[in-house]
Amino acid sequence: MNEHNNGKVGEQSIETLLTHLGRQPDDHFGFVNTPVYRGSTVLFKTLDDLDAQSQRYLYGRAGNPTTDGVEEIVNALEGGYRTRLLPSGVAAITVAILSCVKAGDEVLICDNAYEPGRQFADDFLERFGVNIRYYDPGIGAGLRDFMSPRTKAILAESPGSLTFELQDIRAFAEAAHAGGAKLIVDNSWASPLYFKPLELGADIVIHAGTKMFVGHSDAFAGTVTATEACWPEVELIRRRLGFFTSGDDAYLVARGLRTLSIRMAEHERRALEIATWLESQPEVASVLHPALPSHPDHTLFKRDFKGSGSLFGVILAPAPRASVAAFVDQLELFTMGYSWGGYESLCLPVVLGDNRTAKPWTHEGNLFRLHIGFEGVEDLKADLSAAIERYTRAR
Ligand SMILES: *Cc1c(COP(=O)(O)O)cnc(C)c1O
Repeated sequence: MNEHNNGKVGEQSIETLLTHLGRQPDDHFGFVNTPVYRGSTVLFKTLDDLDAQSQRYLYGRAGNPTTDGVEEIVNALEGGYRTRLLPSGVAAITVAILSCVKAGDEVLICDNAYEPGRQFADDFLERFGVNIRYYDPGIGAGLRDFMSPRTKAILAESPGSLTFELQDIRAFAEAAHAGGAKLIVDNSWASPLYFKPLELGADIVIHAGTKMFVGHSDAFAGTVTATEACWPEVELIRRRLGFFTSGDDAYLVARGLRTLSIRMAEHERRALEIATWLESQPEVASVLHPALPSHPDHTLFKRDFKGSGSLFGVILAPAPRASVAAFVDQLELFTMGYSWGGYESLCLPVVLGDNRTAKPWTHEGNLFRLHIGFEGVEDLKADLSAAIERYTRAR
């Protein structure tokens, strides 16, 4: 929680903020980067100091200069009141929702939301007397009618990281506020460079910092950014849960953030090139990329987003599981694994299964999620071409 952003926010470009915010070389013998602070105990010199509790740091769990630097950067990018760094994206979802509800309340969750967020709601919140309902991502202003007097929090993820449906965050914010609820948006896909939910009326924005912020598949992190009205409860819940992120991991987040704008631009360019090319390939039933005119929510994308991310879906014509195996098992450059946001390309076959309850997923065929990294685009296309051929042959 950085309390001294230096007045530049709003006047300078995001690129400049990413380069200069969150570090104070003068405090560190001139070294460019804020070093890794590892520390639990913070020392007090006198009883007066202990009684006053006015030192910048009192105990390491509340943060240190390394975590503060990250919070300052993300907060400036999102245009929030304050931001907290958390140990994972799931921890960020947890803190955000818990800050809005108590027993007897209700949370509405978008049907395309990240699966562990749904599991937190179903397996944890329900146990403590919070009701959970799922809504169609395309519900738009209809969300107001879907809400009940008990609804206190609405979780949106636009676009969802498996099916890439967008949500009308503006309409959601209006509906939420009319009904006395808070709107939480998972903004991991676009990053604050390309989408600013708080500007559209959202109350809390969370990130899986593990993905684009870290950018190198080597650390976990999450962030939660809130408006002034929501901040006290967010910080209270974080404290009571004891969530803390180590200086080592915070350092990796800060290091990733320094290059976020150029990485995002390159991910966007490469992903768009491959997504566009895939649309004309054999076996491809559809490409799920919001920046393509063929995407059902493209109008909403153009209205609200400045750019797109690394991640999109492709649906291949129906074929048995053996074809899916033939596609992924012999990929040479794309590798298979969870997460995304690193420099390396990933391909993940997706089976939605129990993850759709409000709006059934009716697309026929096999869905693959692609994260486009920094290999040569032509090499990636060749890898996918060969995979599509194997897919067809195995049928
Ligand atoms: C990965 C992810 C999360 C969770 O982040 P972790 O750091 O893995 O806990 C949340 N939301 C989205 C959209 C994600 O892709």
